[in-house]
Amino acid sequence: MTANPAPAAPPAERYARSAASHAEAKRYMPGGVNSPVRAYRAVGREPVTIRSGAGAWVTDVDGNRYVDYVGSYGPLILGHAAPQVLAAVGEAMRNGTTFGMPTEAETRLARTVVDAVPGVDVVRFVNSGTEAAMSALRLARAATGGHRVIKCIGCYHGHTDAMLVSAGSAATSLGVPSSPGVPAAVAASTLLVPFNDLDAVERAMATHRGEIACMAVEPIAGNMGLVPPAPGYLQGLRALCDRFGVPLLFDEVMTGFRVDHGCAQGLYGVTPDLTCLGKVVGGGLPCAAYGGREELMRQVAPDGPVYQAGTLSGNPLAMAAGQAQLDALAADGFAAYRRLEAASARLEEGLRGLAADAGCPLTTTRVGSMLGVFFVEEDGSPVRDYADATAQSTRRYAAFFGAMLDAGVILAPAAFECWFVSTAHDDEAIEHTLAAAGPAFAAAAATPFRSAEVRSPEADA
Ligand SMILES: *Cc1c(COP(=O)(O)O)cnc(C)c1O
Repeated sequence: MTANPAPAAPPAERYARSAASHAEAKRYMPGGVNSPVRAYRAVGREPVTIRSGAGAWVTDVDGNRYVDYVGSYGPLILGHAAPQVLAAVGEAMRNGTTFGMPTEAETRLARTVVDAVPGVDVVRFVNSGTEAAMSALRLARAATGGHRVIKCIGCYHGHTDAMLVSAGSAATSLGVPSSPGVPAAVAASTLLVPFNDLDAVERAMATHRGEIACMAVEPIAGNMGLVPPAPGYLQGLRALCDRFGVPLLFDEVMTGFRVDHGCAQGLYGVTPDLTCLGKVVGGGLPCAAYGGREELMRQVAPDGPVYQAGTLSGNPLAMAAGQAQLDALAADGFAAYRRLEAASARLEEGLRGLAADAGCPLTTTRVGSMLGVFFVEEDGSPVRDYADATAQSTRRYAAFFGAMLDAGVILAPAAFECWFVSTAHDDEAIEHTLAAAGPAFAAAAATPFRSAEVRSPEADA
């Protein structure tokens, strides 16, 4: 695998076909993309258009090759075009792509999920994480009679109305913490608390006794960069939920099967009442799920009155891809997770050393193969919540991002996304990354810290 040469200034012709492709895409789609972050607005570049992926690498339409840490924002824990996944999808596809009738593949993946995830007795497959969170919230509202949801500032639970309030990632980068079109009444039913702050949760529960449908949280926050739970935080949430009779909802769309076979709830030993899954569980096809305690999930139609349905839910191709990926992760006594840990630790340590050498203040956070890199003002300053996360320099991140791209490493085009390491990130991929990172940290360090961009109001909340 040849690395791209790293020119001081990228010649326009190097990205010519991507530029032409993006120009045409903009004519037909908002921003030329089907999800806003892909438009590269937060890093001041033109997006590269991808032709193919294999293992840890992707190739753009101009033929430039990159080590990829986007990983489609989480699903691709085995890397691109993993042979097990392709074989399983190919086989399923030859038998028909969708039926709208039950298949054995659904039960098999459901059993795999229920066996693995402590808080899931019964599961329903859906098509996206957004749909999973929306459906879980409806169920929680139906089960409790409460209309309010407690949500952490900077956590992302998809773009359903009630959850699109102080959401992270793309919403953070674009400076639109909530969106026009979300009814004020819906937004007002969402109670916001800082991540890692138990006192704020207790106050919200005490003030709105009997009105709260659920406490929703990413058990490891991954949509404001990576912010791990403080010791005792998740246990504290469990205790408060028990005391006030509020269901605890873990949104594990990003962390589920990513950090451990038992997901974050297995890793930290805290069992929620409801769980959302997505990304890894679908093996890179459109698939997500929500599940939970038996008596809650039996309220979902047709066992109960809470309606939720989907033409393509439990799609045979998605079931095959998810099953193949989860089986590969479980093989050899879950060896994949140990390999992911080793590769990710090496990457994190390498990056820290190079940043220090370049005089670039940095904080890194990591849980398994999810890595957070924050361009903070003072080296090593802690990142515990959204206020800390958004105090970083997005300008320095943009400089770092551009230098990495030109040197053949593709990162998420926003400072508030995790890096995702896959089992395909071998020594060669990590070495290529670290070779690119030295000069990229120097470029970041040479960039003024303060950003001219508008910070979102939540940064000061
Ligand atoms: C990605 C994500 C979602 C949304 O999933 P989509 O499939 O993009 O709708 C929800 N919650 C969390 C924690 C996520 O990371």
